[in-house]
Amino acid sequence: MFVHSGKPMRDTVQPNRDTVLAYPQLHTSHHPVVADKLTRLRAVGTPSASFRRAMTELTLCIAYETLAAMPVRPIRVTTPLQETDGAALADRIAIVPILRAGLGMVDGFLTLFPNLQIWHIGLYRDEASLAPVTYYNRLPALATVDTCLVLDPMLATGGSAAATITILKEWGARQIMYVGIIAAPYGVDRLVSAHPDVPIYVAALDEALNDDGYIVPGLGDAGDRLYHTGQAPAD
Ligand code: URA
Repeated sequence: MFVHSGKPMRDTVQPNRDTVLAYPQLHTSHHPVVADKLTRLRAVGTPSASFRRAMTELTLCIAYETLAAMPVRPIRVTTPLQETDGAALADRIAIVPILRAGLGMVDGFLTLFPNLQIWHIGLYRDEASLAPVTYYNRLPALATVDTCLVLDPMLATGGSAAATITILKEWGARQIMYVGIIAAPYGVDRLVSAHPDVPIYVAALDEALNDDGYIVPGLGDAGDRLYHTGQAPAD
């Protein structure tokens, strides 16, 4: 029987960052505004309220980059002066935040698109094995959109993201994209192996996972920092 050391990543070989950076599925941001806001998120002294705000702003930037290749359909629009050609996003889009840290990315998307559909899937990672455990699934009866965007700020082992995408595919989702804030090479590699058809959009690809499965340099536990369950400084 396998006995766990309590350090689930200790003996795991992790892929090289430069190798993973070259994966065509991975899109990292090179925008200075993203770099500025990401630095605020990383800083240990950023209190929860500022952390939430920075995550919302950063998500808005990443959402903008994620949707850059979305198809549009032509529409006519009347300005105060005359009628002219316009465009509307052609796809119906849903966001699927993975509870709970994914909730921190919802407001950024809603700022851009107030009419998005929002569906929830709850997964936590077992601290000993790091395996994802599903505890909540509230998808509608039918997959009624063209594109599902899976939201989770930290792509660490990739287990939760891969499991969520499997659930969405089995349920009938067609195009799926993953949107996060920070990824580890190990998580990207596993997600690409499980779902090579799913593009990955993040602000940054960090160095590695530590023995406990945290991304380094990272930003710590995103859920704790968003929702006051860690040791965040007082607001
Ligand atoms: N989840 C987090 O919130 N942070 C990490 O570094 C890894 C997983």
